[in-house]
Amino acid sequence: PLVLGIETSCDETGVGIVRGTELLANVIASSMDEHARYGGVVPEVAARAHLEALGPSIDAALAASGVSLDDLDAVAVTSGPGLAGALMVGVGAAKALALSIEKPIYAVNHLVGHVGADLLDADAPLETPTIALLVSGGHTSLLVVRDLVSDVELLGETIDDAAGEAFDKVARVLGLPYPGGPEIDRAAIGGDPRAIRFPRGLTQPKDQAAHRYDFSFSGLKTAVARWVEQREAAGEPVPIADVAASFREAVADVLVTKAIAACTDLGVPRLLLGGGVVANARLRELAQERADAAGVALRVPPLSLCTDNGAMIAALGAQLIMAGHAPSGLSFGADSTLPATEVQVA
Ligand code: ATP
Ligand code: MG
Ligand code: FE
Repeated sequence: PLVLGIETSCDETGVGIVRGTELLANVIASSMDEHARYGGVVPEVAARAHLEALGPSIDAALAASGVSLDDLDAVAVTSGPGLAGALMVGVGAAKALALSIEKPIYAVNHLVGHVGADLLDADAPLETPTIALLVSGGHTSLLVVRDLVSDVELLGETIDDAAGEAFDKVARVLGLPYPGGPEIDRAAIGGDPRAIRFPRGLTQPKDQAAHRYDFSFSGLKTAVARWVEQREAAGEPVPIADVAASFREAVADVLVTKAIAACTDLGVPRLLLGGGVVANARLRELAQERADAAGVALRVPPLSLCTDNGAMIAALGAQLIMAGHAPSGLSFGADSTLPATEVQVA
């Protein structure tokens, strides 16, 4: 089926068009620059930016794919989780579009969309069951996906900051601009990842029972800030490269350790990465090393499919159609805390 997908859960306005698992267009407009001076995504600013970017993005996706609105079989849209005001803009636009072209609408889960992104990676499409580690500015979630449209379970998630958020906050501590992830990746070049042993949140023996698959990054952020403050108070220079490399190592270590543990515990020999933090060079490297050692097949879709996008939402919509799911009605809304188990909202 030919599906147009709309994604507005955070700061990316995404409009994608797919035919089944074939990617036809993936247009992404980001309001990231507008948030830079605040050091993080400002919900009101993001919502307004979606309103301005959606129309042109839909036109651009249609033009890029050579598809006309009449050709579409359905519209898919992110219903949640995400920023409520931002989601509402996409949901409203998708409903209006579906009504005007008299086509069904599928309201889908953003997190499961990230997993569905892998369907569009032509090299080797998604295989299930798989463990999925989703890491971005807004979420850090570990899922087990037994069936993309009908069996998704949340194993764990962050209990405070998201991984990308930790990068953004630590960058600020180091005087680096927003977004912090790419800045820290760059600053870490030539640094010694073993220079400073920063804490690995929720990896103590006492955490194994209740928080085996959960994450915590706020203690790490505080530890970096304290380390830097002490250096400055002593009048000593801050070795930015070592701090960046050691911090990055701590984040990558925790993420990969828990993801591989999930693969081993559950006997699932596949790990899929998704979300904007996948851009991190050390995370990808460490994941590959440990996956190889554990006999786990690692899947990392191209970055344009890892960051928030509309194509992954369209791909999930197409899967729902192919699995025979009925469309959503028009009464669904934006659900900022939609659980990962709810692949589709009726
Ligand atoms: P959502 O949480 O809804 O997926 P988001 O906009 O917060 O949306 P993305 O756009 O997928 O998330 O990713 C942005 C985040 O990824 C930022 O926090 C940014 O610092 C982080 N990031 C980007 N590149 C890197 C990198 N090379 N290393 C680490 N983090 C990175
Ligand atoms: Mg973003
Ligand atoms: Fe996302």
